[in-house]
Amino acid sequence: MYWNDLNNSLKIQYNSKVYKLALSSGCTCPNRDGALGSRGCVFCDGAGAFAEQGDIPAQLAAAKKRVAAKTGANAKYIAYFQSFTNTYGPAERLRGLYSAAMEPEDVVILSIATRPDCLPEEILSMLAELNQLKPVWVELGLQTIHPASANYIRRGYDLPVYEDAVRRLKAADITVVTHQILGLPGESPHMMAETAQYIGQSGADGIKFHLLHVLRGTDLAADWQAGKVQTMELEAYIAALEDCVRHIPREMVIHRLTGDGAKRDLLAPLWSGDKKRVLNAIHHAFRRDNLEQGSALSNR
Ligand code: SF4
Repeated sequence: MYWNDLNNSLKIQYNSKVYKLALSSGCTCPNRDGALGSRGCVFCDGAGAFAEQGDIPAQLAAAKKRVAAKTGANAKYIAYFQSFTNTYGPAERLRGLYSAAMEPEDVVILSIATRPDCLPEEILSMLAELNQLKPVWVELGLQTIHPASANYIRRGYDLPVYEDAVRRLKAADITVVTHQILGLPGESPHMMAETAQYIGQSGADGIKFHLLHVLRGTDLAADWQAGKVQTMELEAYIAALEDCVRHIPREMVIHRLTGDGAKRDLLAPLWSGDKKRVLNAIHHAFRRDNLEQGSALSNR
């Protein structure tokens, strides 16, 4: 049994567990501010998982407090700009924010979530400079390779845009982490595995698997309430996830095995709100099935 788990790989590298500090850059998103669209991706509630306020040192302090119960002495951190499109703004303003976030000695990685169509040259060269100081990760929300699903979720860019972004980020030696959503309407487990395999071959270093979940107030919620969209059962999710893991290379780091939405707004599937139970079930199935990451790839 083998899968390349992020926590293990960080423990080996930093000799301690590394905790995420969720920070806000104050950026919006072109899929929300009218540049590309105004309603956002169909599943996006527009609130952002952690819409923090205040300057970066204050945000860092507040975020450390939130994880303090779990962290021991000498904890190390990832400064994580998770919500919205964190490269959607002037490069000089963002340089100030990111530099401040990665300045403390115990912050060992800067992680920035964004869209591949929001990486102009001045942003990329700023990130490349920061990457000389400490590792910079850029997370891209690809979600699927299938055009009908990409249209349904209103992703707003095509595959060549993603491929170009990965190529340019890797040319700058920046770590790329790509997000995939399992359970998009109309997608079979085979189609999900195709997306995983594509991500595995795209040059990305890591992958985050999410489950399609329905949040209150989203357009997805309206479709779900109208019976147009169904969500996955836990067993089906785990089976599809296992198949995806078999289709990515062994060296690709798995950052996430399931999503982590805001529980108070979760409409479906309700089982996904119990993250601990879901992770236990996934780990149990991986052991039971003797899962081998990459086993479905012929050239492993
Ligand atoms: S790109 Fe991200 S922030 Fe923008 S609408 Fe989609 S999910 Fe929401």
